[in-house]
Amino acid sequence: MDRINLCLAHMSGNEMQYIQEAFDTNWVVPLGPNVNAFEEDLEDFVNENGALDKKVVALSAGTAAIHLGLIMLGVGKGDEVICQSFTFAASANPIMYQGATPVFVDSEPSTYNMDPQLLEEAIKDRIAKTGRKPKAIIPVYLYGMPARIDEIMEIARRYEIPVLEDAAEGFGSKYKGQICGTFGDYGVMSFNGNKLITTSGGGALICPNEETKKHVMFYATQAREAYPYYQHEQIGYNYRMSNICAGIGRGQMTIVGEHIEHHRWVHDYYKKKLRGYDDIVLQSAPERYMESNYWLSTIRFEDNKHTIDGKLLPLIERLSKMGIETRPLWKPMHLQPVYKDAPAYVNGVSEHLFSCGLCLPSGPYVGEREINYIVQSIVDNL
Ligand SMILES: *Cc1c(COP(=O)(O)O)cnc(C)c1O
Repeated sequence: MDRINLCLAHMSGNEMQYIQEAFDTNWVVPLGPNVNAFEEDLEDFVNENGALDKKVVALSAGTAAIHLGLIMLGVGKGDEVICQSFTFAASANPIMYQGATPVFVDSEPSTYNMDPQLLEEAIKDRIAKTGRKPKAIIPVYLYGMPARIDEIMEIARRYEIPVLEDAAEGFGSKYKGQICGTFGDYGVMSFNGNKLITTSGGGALICPNEETKKHVMFYATQAREAYPYYQHEQIGYNYRMSNICAGIGRGQMTIVGEHIEHHRWVHDYYKKKLRGYDDIVLQSAPERYMESNYWLSTIRFEDNKHTIDGKLLPLIERLSKMGIETRPLWKPMHLQPVYKDAPAYVNGVSEHLFSCGLCLPSGPYVGEREINYIVQSIVDNL
């Protein structure tokens, strides 16, 4: 059997046609017909039932989208931004790019995402300690799982703090029928090579309206003013998506539904195969109204033996030798040396998950045969 990877890019076969078009028309630049069409595809996707009218800007990375989202929300030097601690560093790093300070909030145990109760405690405490409200809140849809976004939005509205949703891993996940990334002021998508769909590298920012979209595009293209010569009155960035990458994205969008279906099937099949192993807990949506894309299926060991200081890393090593790629869950930001001085509101949940959790192969090349082999290899090594 070939090596079984966590999640690899899977081409639809339609990508080359759009790339070829870009070459044929000589649009080999960070703008062009593919970029515009990909943005339209993404807008149709997030606005699904026409109930929403969000606008989308295609960018060079999800990290760039978070950065521009923070800029749009006016985050600057000396501000504090609340960020989910249990996440990939890319959620938090752009806070630092802006000279602001991240304030980390832990997760609740059912979704692995931001704990609304702890969020409110953190807001109150920051106001008490600094006399100012945090400037923004960044919840994350980790591994594709919807966060408790109704509760988070209710708190955010009550304190009048804007929300930037990091849906980089939650492409197409839904909460009460609505696409994740469309609840807050801005939403982030990522099309990195290992994400649910890919443009090789890329991202997008979901914006509330046409005006903000134009503004984001302005910042993403070096903040060039409308003059016949190069006039700059603000600091800009080179964050626009290339027309070639957008061609890959257009191809990916032709099969995104099947992609998501497959990831969900993988999760359901793991669930079936893991039935009866009480010490191995597969993360599953805790509510019926949470439709995860199951970008990655994850398990946690509740046997007190498979911890990061115990048998977890040796197990990962052994599985790797057997051709199975697995990985620990994200190490929480409040445990990262680079963020050791950042304020953190913790409850032990993300530390526990990091200590005993494992990401399983969940991508396009994972079928029944692979899952049977993976589950057997794990239980044989318990
Ligand atoms: C991948 C990822 C990002 C960053 O996206 P890039 O496109 O790789 O820059 C941000 N947040 C989370 C949670 C991610 O998994």
